[in-house]
Amino acid sequence: MLAGHGADLATWLANTLDGWVTSSALTSQAVAAVKTFSDTNPLDADYGKTWSRLLPDAKYQGPDDGLAEAPPSGWTPTFPHVLKSGTGKPDFEFRKQWQTSPYADAYLGRFAAALVESLQLGKHGGIDVLGVSFSSPDLVGHAFGPRSQEVQDMYAHLDRTIGTLLDRLDVLVGRDEYVVGLTSDHGVTPIPEQLEKAGEDAGRFNLAAMIDAVEERARAALGPGKHVAVMSGNDLYFETGVYEALRAKPGALDAVVEALASRPGVARVFRSEQLRDAVHAADPLLRAAALSYFPGRSGDLILAAKPGWMSAGSGTEHDSANPDDQRVPILFMGRGIKPGEYSQPATPADVAPTLAAVCGITMRQAEGHVLREALTFAP
Ligand SMILES: [Zn+2]
Repeated sequence: MLAGHGADLATWLANTLDGWVTSSALTSQAVAAVKTFSDTNPLDADYGKTWSRLLPDAKYQGPDDGLAEAPPSGWTPTFPHVLKSGTGKPDFEFRKQWQTSPYADAYLGRFAAALVESLQLGKHGGIDVLGVSFSSPDLVGHAFGPRSQEVQDMYAHLDRTIGTLLDRLDVLVGRDEYVVGLTSDHGVTPIPEQLEKAGEDAGRFNLAAMIDAVEERARAALGPGKHVAVMSGNDLYFETGVYEALRAKPGALDAVVEALASRPGVARVFRSEQLRDAVHAADPLLRAAALSYFPGRSGDLILAAKPGWMSAGSGTEHDSANPDDQRVPILFMGRGIKPGEYSQPATPADVAPTLAAVCGITMRQAEGHVLREALTFAP
């Protein structure tokens, strides 16, 4: 959705966090508009700044010092968060903090507005599409959890950042000359220790114990040796040939699956062959696992966690099909959109076909559908 297959330009912050990358699949040369903005707006200019809460104290729910928060290096769990590193210079430690703060969202908002201006978006004969991924709320969610004051404050700041961007669009493009879709690709599970303290069933997978249990059953079926290659997130990968050998021996794979399924926090265990044709399954956990399944890349066995449970060893994670993770908002605003609140089922996959319909385009192969009830016209 953000760039599609035929965009003119896609740019993102490098993994080293020290510069902007442009996609060579779309353009073979450095893009002047990106280079100009990043050269004149070094993110190191935010070094030494402080992230403080935007709103009055009474607006925040819960403690600032939340249980088991996992802030980035150099920070404590409580406000204010100063963006600076142990070396006294803007290095990777600083940039990780920056990326986990409202300063990164604000920077991206300014970057997006600058590109609208320099690329003359909305001023061409056709329709221009701009996709912006504000990814810092994700990082704050992982580190501090969805109930933290940090997450609450990120959205207070992001609200202003998006407001500033829309104000710029009003000036650059014209108030009734654009339509906006806003959604998220996932939520996040509360920090398990916080749920446990509140008396709920929650926790972290004991990965070592899970692997031991699988090894024990695999050894019983196939003989001595190392059978599990790795467990990554909810995916368990066997060493080469082991999964096929377990499948070939009657009862062997059942025993392994049973060993995993009986571990604390495990709701279901799926075998990879179960997921290949299950994207339309009525069983919601099976369908979700199938939609995430990528042959040749996903594990041999795939776990579904019970609500409140996860594989992450610290902070929190979004890798389940449970409601706290799966339920996200969808908002539209602007030309062609009928104001209101709609309770029909919808998914983020509906955003692209709906925006396309506003632009007079019918998508031939869309995963989602047009959210007609939110439109002022019949597409
Ligand atoms: Zn994430």
